[in-house]
Order: sequence, then structure tokens, then C-alpha cells
Amino acid sequence: MNSDAVLLLEAVNFAAEKHRNQRRKDPEGTPYINHPIGSSKNSSHEGGITDIEALQAALLHDTVEDTDTTPAELEAKFGAIVARIVQEVTDDKSLPKQERKRLQVEHASHCSHQAKLVKLADKLYNLRDLNRCTPVGWTAERVQEYFVWSSEVVKGLKGTNSALENKLEVLFNRRGVQL
Ligand code: NDP
Ligand code: ZN
Repeated sequence: MNSDAVLLLEAVNFAAEKHRNQRRKDPEGTPYINHPIGSSKNSSHEGGITDIEALQAALLHDTVEDTDTTPAELEAKFGAIVARIVQEVTDDKSLPKQERKRLQVEHASHCSHQAKLVKLADKLYNLRDLNRCTPVGWTAERVQEYFVWSSEVVKGLKGTNSALENKLEVLFNRRGVQL
């Protein structure tokens, strides 16, 4: 097997083990791992991304934020670059939610190119998920607010990958939100 395939399998297996007991917020409670796998696959198939570190980081992007994974653990297993990309897309959970959301908007344009790719793929997946079905307990207004906030983040990511950005723009425009 080629070495890129081995690296991706290691990352997908690591993420699957870490997220093993988590579910998405949709009414069916889809296994959480579908999200990082789908984000990485969209990066590759729709974004045309072949950068193996960016694809690994997409698979691992929620492990530090949402599981017991530490940056040191990622660095030991996947190297300093992948660990740094994941760190760049990880919110500081000690901060209040509104502050975390504000910081994502503020930091987007200052991220590395690889972290911007992961962020674009993450937002594309989450917005499609919201279009597919509304999370448990969410109102239509909350969904719309999420689109508006996401567009503010994506504005800071412009000029990174036109294929992913164009697909995001279509989703925003359908909601009456300009990018
Ligand atoms: P959350 O941040 O709580 O949830 C959105 C996140 O959930 C996504 O970014 C995604 O993150 C993850 N997720 C899991 N399952 C799904 C799914 N099926 N579809 C899409 N995303 C999914 O949501 P908000 O951003 O709306 O909440 C943050 C703020 O909203 C808080 O400040 C809160 O207080 C406020 N709020 C607003 C309400 C309103 O009615 N307007 C009501 C209650 C709270 P990941 O990629 O990490 O999986
Ligand atoms: Zn995510």
C-alpha cells in the first residue's frame, strides 16, 4: 500500500477510536466520526486537495476539542505539522461560547493555509448537515444565525480554495447571506 494511504488509515482509525462514543446533533444521532471523515473526503474529492497533512488534519480536526486527545499525543503519532494544524482549528473550551465564536471570526484570516483548508471543509460539512436536518432543539432562527456566523468566518478564509469557497457561497446565497 502506498504511504499516503497508510497515513490516512492511521488518522481515520485514531479519530474513530477517540470519537467512538459520540454522536452528531441530528435527530438520528449519526455517529460523530461521519463528520471528520466526510470533511476530509470533501477536501479531497471536491476541493481537489492532495496535501496529506491537510487531509490527516481534517480527519483529526475535532479530536483535541471534543475528546481527551492532547496536542502532544497528536505530535507523537502524526508529527508536528499535523498537530499544529489541529491546534489552529481547536477552540479554547475554557472561554464562553460567544467569545469562542467571536475569536473564530477574528482568527480565520491569520491561520496557516493548511488550517484554512480544514476550516473550509469543516464549515461546508456542517452547513450541509444543517440543510439536511435541524439539530435537536434548534429553531430555524438559530440555524440562520449559524449560517450568518459561518459566513463571517469564511470571509477570512477567502483565497484559499476556490472550489470549496464556491460551494460555500452557493449555500450562503440560498440563505440570503452574502460572502
Ligand atoms: P453549537 O456551537 O452549540 O453547535 C454547532 C456545532 O455543532 C457545529 O459547529 C458542529 O461542530 C457541531 N454539530 C454537531 N452535529 C451537527 C449537525 N448535525 N449539524 C451541524 N453542526 C453539528 O451551535 P451554535 O453555534 O448555534 O451555538 C453557539 C451559540 O449559540 C452559543 O453562544 C449559544 O449560547 C447560542 N445559542 C443560541 C440559541 C438561538 O436560538 N439562537 C439557542 C441556544 C444557544 P463540530 O464541527 O465541532 O462538530
Ligand atoms: Zn468539525
